Amino acid sequence: MDAKQVNSYKQQNSLLSQFIVRLSAFYEGFSSDIDKELIVLRRHLSGTPNFTLATVSINKLNRAIQHQEVTLNKYASSTVAKLESAIKALQKAVFDDEQLKKKATEQLIALNQPTGDIFSLYRLFQHAIDLHQNALAAKLTPSLPPQDEGREAAKIANPLYQSILAELNQLIESYAQKRSDDPQLIDIKARLSQGMDEDGLLKSCVVVLRMIVQDAMSEASLTGKVIQGLHSSLDKVSSDLQLSVEDSRSQYEQRKASSAEIQSHIENIEEAVHHSESFESLKEYTQFSVKHIANTLSQQSKNDSEGHAHLLELLSSMQTQITKLQRQTQTYKKRLAEQVKQNQTDPLTRLPNRQAYNEKLNHAYQQWQKSGQNLAVAVVDIDNFKRINDKFGHAAGDRTLQVVGRHLKQHLSPGDFIARWGGEEFVLLLPDVSNKQLTDRLETIRSSLAQLPFKFKQEKVTITASFGATQFKQGDTPDTVFERADSFLYKAKREGRNQIVSD
Ligand code: GH3
Ligand code: MG
Ligand code: MG
Repeated sequence: MDAKQVNSYKQQNSLLSQFIVRLSAFYEGFSSDIDKELIVLRRHLSGTPNFTLATVSINKLNRAIQHQEVTLNKYASSTVAKLESAIKALQKAVFDDEQLKKKATEQLIALNQPTGDIFSLYRLFQHAIDLHQNALAAKLTPSLPPQDEGREAAKIANPLYQSILAELNQLIESYAQKRSDDPQLIDIKARLSQGMDEDGLLKSCVVVLRMIVQDAMSEASLTGKVIQGLHSSLDKVSSDLQLSVEDSRSQYEQRKASSAEIQSHIENIEEAVHHSESFESLKEYTQFSVKHIANTLSQQSKNDSEGHAHLLELLSSMQTQITKLQRQTQTYKKRLAEQVKQNQTDPLTRLPNRQAYNEKLNHAYQQWQKSGQNLAVAVVDIDNFKRINDKFGHAAGDRTLQVVGRHLKQHLSPGDFIARWGGEEFVLLLPDVSNKQLTDRLETIRSSLAQLPFKFKQEKVTITASFGATQFKQGDTPDTVFERADSFLYKAKREGRNQIVSD
């Protein structure tokens, strides 16, 4: 080996030693056992390298590193498994948030790709933490109308909050029609639209409930007053009637007495004609009797006219009472009819409500049993309605319900019936249609609804609905028919929505 070659080996050795020293420094901190051995190795390689001792150290390190590799792989796969189950749990928790659900799915897919190095595992970790933080933030912030963004109210964490808010809104809506200028109601409505915290919400619930109770009580006492009024009027009429009966009885008795008196005077005159001894005495007696008869008759006539006047008085009093009674009854009947109508009308859409539907259906069912004429029931449910609420706010959801309700009603024939069954569901009664006519008509409603131009927050939105429809058949009851229509509706939902499923 010449000097040049030796020199080149020396240079390569020194380069290699430096590299190993640097590499070992980089990996410091990975494991304390390896660290200790790396220090030993570095000592053997620095200055004038001692390769014999370095080789011993390198062999020890080799074994330690092999062991660590196995441990590292084990940790990596158990970390991936843990992340996987955490993200699956998250997916369940955010099932109603399409965006978060999508991100969680993407993360699951990424987790199932082979991890190249430890840093890609760190990245997955970071993504998962971000996702959890987003989900947490979304859960803490219920969707409120845009003007409320950033409000304190947005921090409401109770999931019941939204449903209580919806209930309260509905209650107030139905109440506001009765008491549109009530300052308490106006105040609560204003505060509701700005969003309030849970405490405020519950307090408002109590206020509204108290109002309803008060109203119900005053309604009850008012009803009591009306009934009392009716009773006293009836009492008066019946006592007047009693008086007039008694009056006419005594008048009859008087008349009978007068007639008897007159009769006896006439008999006396006849007697006198037979037995009178002189014309003078006859004349005298007759004059006396005629005077008596005239007296009796005039008394009679006086009695008669007094009785007549009294009777007239009684009659007119009775007439007044009866008119009053009629007026009271009419007002009462009108109020009663208004109340029945109010109780059977859905305040938001102004359509008949479920109670009205049940009544109507029972009636139509009896007709169907008698006549055997066709009778169809259709259940309509707006598709993905929750998204409208979530994306554009509850008020937009309410407007949608009003528009859809109006649209359905406009497409019905005069003999048909529509009600809001509840939530975003409507129910239709269509008498006297064939199966073909039924699906044709529902198809017209379905396709025209899908073409209505809804626009929320400058965004054009298509609203569709699914339909389940069926005819009354032998052996059906109102319940079995509704259940069948409802199961058809669910089939329509399962098969992709925006469609009609019928018999
Ligand atoms: P699907 O297509 O399966 O019917 O989905 P969907 O979102 O329409 O049905 P889901 O039953 O999940 O949601 C209905 C939502 O309707 C939930 C409820 O908050 C909302 N909702 C019910 N009543 C009212 C209301 O009077 N006004 C508003 N704005 N929303 C309501
Ligand atoms: Mg729906
Ligand atoms: Mg529904």
